[in-house]
Formats: sequence, C-alpha cells, structure tokens
Amino acid sequence: MSDEALVFAEHQAGKITRPTWEALAAGQRLAQDLGLRASAVILGESLSGLASELAAVDVSEILAVESGPLREYTADGYAEALRTLVSERKPRFVVFSHTYQVRDFAPKLAAALDRGFASDCLSYRKESGRMAFVRQVFQGKFNADLEFAGDPPYLVSFQAGSFREDSVRRGAKAAKITQVQVSLTPGKVRTKPGERFREARQAVDLTQAEIIVAVGRGIKSRENIELAKKLADALGAEIGASRPICDGGWLPMDRQIGSSGQTVAPKLYLALGISGAIQHQVGMKGSRTVVAINKDKEAPIFDVATYGVVGDLFEIVPPLIEEIKKAKGG
Ligand SMILES: Cc1cc2nc3c(=O)[nH]c(=O)nc-3n(C[C@H](O)[C@H](O)[C@H](O)COP(=O)(O)OP(=O)(O)OC[C@H]3O[C@@H](n4cnc5c(N)ncnc54)[C@H](O)[C@@H]3O)c2cc1C
Repeated sequence: MSDEALVFAEHQAGKITRPTWEALAAGQRLAQDLGLRASAVILGESLSGLASELAAVDVSEILAVESGPLREYTADGYAEALRTLVSERKPRFVVFSHTYQVRDFAPKLAAALDRGFASDCLSYRKESGRMAFVRQVFQGKFNADLEFAGDPPYLVSFQAGSFREDSVRRGAKAAKITQVQVSLTPGKVRTKPGERFREARQAVDLTQAEIIVAVGRGIKSRENIELAKKLADALGAEIGASRPICDGGWLPMDRQIGSSGQTVAPKLYLALGISGAIQHQVGMKGSRTVVAINKDKEAPIFDVATYGVVGDLFEIVPPLIEEIKKAKGG
C-alpha cells in the first residue's frame, strides 16, 4: 500500500477552482501529520497549463489524466478514470473538496472501489494512532467521529472553508508532472453533458470584499434590509446574508454566505441578527475581525466573534450609522 495522500483537483472553464486549493491544503496537512507524501490528480484534455499551475504547490507529483472522453465532466468518466488510477496506485487517502461535482461522482467511485467515503468532513483528529474524521449529523446539531474500517484507500471530502486556501504551501521547485494514460471506452460514459446551468449568476464576488455587512433572520422583514444597506453604505461595505434571507428572496442568491453560498474572508464581517449556524460559519469564519450583534447572548455566532454586542439591532444600528458618518466627516 502506497504512502500517498492523493488530492483531486477540480477545474472549470479552464481554471482550477477555489475549493481545489482548500483540498490541497487538507492533503498537505494530512500528509504532514501522517508521514505521507501528497500528490494531486487532474482529469480532462489538454491539461498542461493547469498541471503546471498545480505543480507550483509543494506536492511530490501531479498526475495528469488526459483522455478524449474526459474533455467534459461526466460522473461516469471521472469515476471510471479515477477507479483505474486509484486501483493501480493504491494511495492511502483520496482527498476531495466537497463540491457539487465531487458529490456527483465520488460516491460512485467509492462504490466501484468497494470502499467507504467520509463525505463533507470538517476536520480530522489523530489519537493514539487512530484517525477520526469529524462530520456533522442531524443538520449540524452534533459532530460525529468517523473511522474507516478495512483497508485503504480511504476517500474523504472536506466541507468548504474547513481548510484555508491561503495555507497551501508552495514548493521550492515545481513538482513532477506525470501523464497518465487510462483507456476509457466511449461506451463507459453513458451521459452527454448539456449546457452548464447556473441558477444565480455571480454578479457580485463577495470573496473580494474587504468589509461585509451580513443580515440574518433577526432583521425581521424585507423592508428592514434597507437599514443594513445604510450601514453597508456608511462603511463602504458589501451586503451579504444568511440563507433564509436569500431563500425568502429578500436579497439575491449571490449574497448568500455559507456552505451552500459563498465563502468569504473580509477584513471586517458584521453579522446582524445571524444566529451563526455551522453552515453559515463555514462561509465566514476566515474573516479577520467578526463583529456580531444579536439579542441572544447564547447565539453560536458569538463563538466566532471578535467583538460581540448583545442587544437589539434596531436600537444599535441607527446610532452606529450616525457615528460612522460623523467619524468619516459626513
Ligand atoms: C444543507 C444545508 C446548507 C445550508 N447552507 C447555509 C448557508 O450557506 N448559509 C446560511 O446562512 N445558512 C445555511 N443553512 C441554514 C442554517 O442551518 C441556518 O438555518 C441559517 O444560517 C439560520 O439563519 P439566521 O441566522 O439568519 O436565522 P436564525 O437561526 O433564525 O437566527 C436569527 C438570529 O437573530 C437574532 N435576533 C432576532 N431578533 C433580533 C434583533 N432584533 N436584534 C438582534 N438579533 C436578533 C436571534 O437571536 C437569532 O440568533 C444551511 C442548512 C442546511 C441544512
């Protein structure tokens, strides 16, 4: 059995996706903690540019699996190509970021390899030689420790934000790139991808924002969003939201922050009336300074807040806007 932690690198529209860097950070950490070597695999066609980009990362090898049937993503194609590769190389771990694409094909890959898949994990722990992968159950009410039974390879995916993309170590020199041939008979790929569909066009890229004012259900009504917008204007901030606000159509979907929205890391994150459910936290816990205003002193948002204000946002925000305006001389 090899001593490898193999990271799956995802790409879309000719670019390595952001969660891939998080998966690489996870793979590097796992490799370091367990004395393994980290490597990465990328699938597709004409991959030399993307493989070179990945090779800048501190890993031992980049495996580029190029094949015509992999030109466009299909669950059949990816699962079969990775099954062939993983069966031959026998890595200890195959590490993924828990993206929509991974959700689509990784269970099929695990079934084809006859192995378990610890999906959507938050972290891992190594205790007395045993590895436990931490994952939420019952909609985030509890954390469960998962241990793999049986022989590797072990498949594990991590939730967005569990590892930071900026913690990926760069290599002193470029990693070796190895072209891997897999024979994929066209019959193995039974689906033909149609045009890519996107529910919400990402009109705003909150990942670039330096200050975010985020609103949650504590804002009470659609009309009151205006108050948060005034605060955002005063601060020169972007407006963001928890999921119920976007589900209710009070703000567009591209303003949603969290595990099924955007992952942000601004200098200042102001949370107004947000309870701080774990699905929200994973999208904002990388923020440098978090200020939370919430009526409930037990709200979980205070666990990740740098400054917590226990109180009614409708009493706190209007004078705050005035003070900010005064401080800015306006
Ligand atoms: C698979 C899955 C994915 C999910 N993805 C996301 C995601 O991407 N992003 C996300 O945000 N959620 C997500 N959720 C939902 C998440 O679990 C929570 O339900 C959600 O984040 C709660 O939103 P909230 O904090 O706005 O509302 P609530 O939990 O209802 O909290 C409202 C808060 O406002 C406070 N409050 C009320 N009135 C006031 C007042 N006047 N002044 C100050 N504070 C006040 C209350 O004390 C409370 O803490 C997901 C859930 C699942 C199951």
